[in-house]
Amino acid sequence: MLGKLIDGKAIAEQINAETVAEIACLKEQYGLTPGLAVVLVGENPGSATYVSMKDKMCSRLGLHSERISFPASTSEGELLAILNDLNFKREIHGILVQSPLPPQISAEDIFASVDPSKDVDGFHPLNIGKLALGDPTGFAPCTPAGVHELLIRSGVKTDGAHVVVLGRSRIVGRPVSLILSQKAPDANATVTVCHSRSRNLAEICRSADILIAAIGVPHFVTADMVRDGAVVIDVGINRVEDKAVDKGYRLVGDVAFDAVAPKASLITPVPGGVGPMTIAMLMHNTVRAAQMRHGVA
Ligand code: NDP
Repeated sequence: MLGKLIDGKAIAEQINAETVAEIACLKEQYGLTPGLAVVLVGENPGSATYVSMKDKMCSRLGLHSERISFPASTSEGELLAILNDLNFKREIHGILVQSPLPPQISAEDIFASVDPSKDVDGFHPLNIGKLALGDPTGFAPCTPAGVHELLIRSGVKTDGAHVVVLGRSRIVGRPVSLILSQKAPDANATVTVCHSRSRNLAEICRSADILIAAIGVPHFVTADMVRDGAVVIDVGINRVEDKAVDKGYRLVGDVAFDAVAPKASLITPVPGGVGPMTIAMLMHNTVRAAQMRHGVA
């Protein structure tokens, strides 16, 4: 019997519908259109695809969007100058700098240079600090916030549950562990964070009520690592060669879906699980940034 699918597309559409209603309210009551600037450096094809998806979603939901593209040779100083302009630009409420950045640019410097009140990606040290402290006035990173919403809207109880997070990156693993261990009704989980130096991974994973995989290794989580009835959230998006399709590759997660699904009570697919939630949360955060700037939230 296949575990029940968590339909990330459908849940993301619920959130998008809420965002559309909030945008309509801002326009009607305050004449305000939330604006998002997306900065792309270089020609990474994956990044270009993500940026166009974000552009399209902005126009679909009714946000103002600006895309600023630079060649891969751009210096850190040039990028910082643009971020400074965007920090002061009134029509822009949210700023996102698409990762990965070329090697001559420090991602840490860039994340720290975005105005925290426009940091809708939630990577500024101030917002990470607020997340760690459980201060709701900051922005949580979009993918971890999306995982949290998926769990809440799928009726998964995290209170007292053992959550195992595979991966400790600042983009996914670390913040998702901070969110779920918070002292809050929709959190309150006992969280174990694993990484490439963790011992006895399979055993730790088997003790999870909720297993969140975010390591970037195709099909890493196998059936023997999952206990019967666990909830499995697959954040991984990995390209694997597939000559049978025109593109020459297909996207798979960090979980061996076909083998794991029969054991899980709930499981996210890839694609169509966490992916759509990331963009939905970005739109949500941008609207919230506009509301906060204008004292509406
Ligand atoms: P990173 O490469 O930044 O981090 C990977 C983490 O996994 C690290 O903490 C690393 O450990 C750990 N790790 C790697 N290999 C192993 C292993 N064999 N055993 C245990 N731990 C391991 O990746 P991201 O967090 O940025 O992304 C993870 C995945 O999520 C990727 O597939 C990415 O494409 C996907 N992703 C999906 C998004 C979405 O919207 N759905 C958004 C962002 C990412 P260590 O710290 O020791 O190096």
